[in-house]
Amino acid sequence: MITLVTGGAGYIGSHMVRALLRAGRRVVVLDNLSTGHRRALPPDAAFVEADVRDTAAVTALLQEHDVDAVLHFAGLIEVGASVRDPIGYWSTNFGGTLSLLGAMEASGVKRIVFSSTCAVYGEPGVVPIVESCPRRPISPYGRSKLACEHALADVAAADPAFCAVALRYFNVAGAAADGSVGEDHQPETHLIPRVLNAARDGGGITIFGTDFPTPDGTCVRDYVHVEDLCAAHLAALDRLTPGLAAFNLGIGRGFSVREVIDTARAVTGRAIEASAGPRRAGDPPRLFADPTRARELLGWSPRAVELEPIIASAWRWTRQVSS
Ligand code: UDP
Repeated sequence: MITLVTGGAGYIGSHMVRALLRAGRRVVVLDNLSTGHRRALPPDAAFVEADVRDTAAVTALLQEHDVDAVLHFAGLIEVGASVRDPIGYWSTNFGGTLSLLGAMEASGVKRIVFSSTCAVYGEPGVVPIVESCPRRPISPYGRSKLACEHALADVAAADPAFCAVALRYFNVAGAAADGSVGEDHQPETHLIPRVLNAARDGGGITIFGTDFPTPDGTCVRDYVHVEDLCAAHLAALDRLTPGLAAFNLGIGRGFSVREVIDTARAVTGRAIEASAGPRRAGDPPRLFADPTRARELLGWSPRAVELEPIIASAWRWTRQVSS
């Protein structure tokens, strides 16, 4: 039996492909290479270059490769870009998921792990965030992912054998311990790679808002190591049961933007220049997970529970790729 990884040439997907292979599973990757990289694919994973919205191509893949489970990473991930391009986000994220579900139905594949996001919660009234917190996304990105969760729930309600898990990621960061893959977005919008690019290339970093109601005035986020995130997917895959279950994937602690920059200075030994800038639209002050459910039901505990190991692994990767 083979596991399909959609978006397997992307940041998280490429780490997942390696984690699956290490766990002794056979893997086929589907990616349209719009944001992913062919070089991120290991030679022992089969690869089909196609768009997840191409239902006929996905159906053919599922049948030809004898797929029994799908890890669905393919999607667009930037909150700001989703505001500027809502149709693109709805098409890729929601249209892509519907297409995949149609292909799975046509092929009798009934097991899926879906990449969701803490953006489905919007601006939660309370932190840490538990899975039962109201889902009121404030961006097209978050709404497109929430719509996918609803679609998965409806499919599961209609088919008693359909097994789905939605994993709601907090801020994923870090790189593979063996240096084979890491974060490589173009353009890069995320804090940790931006800070490390500044450490490598100079140029400094702008802090988006220093007047938030947080201890040091900058936003607080829950950073989870990409390899820990992959371990949670393996656990979820092993424990799929009929219906839709949702889990928060974060370490359960928040770190401020200033703490990230200070840790990056310590890890890299470089004086990273930071200047205060205006807030970025749509940034809630504090987001961090209550990951109790993932610990209790998936047996998942992240190994990296401090910023230092996450940033250190990302720094090893940043130094080895050219600017
Ligand atoms: N951030 C920042 N400067 C940057 C990039 C990000 O101050 O150049 C802040 C951003 O406003 C947010 C935090 O860092 O408060 C994490 O942002 P990121 O884009 O990494 O993830 P998000 O929380 O938006 O998913």
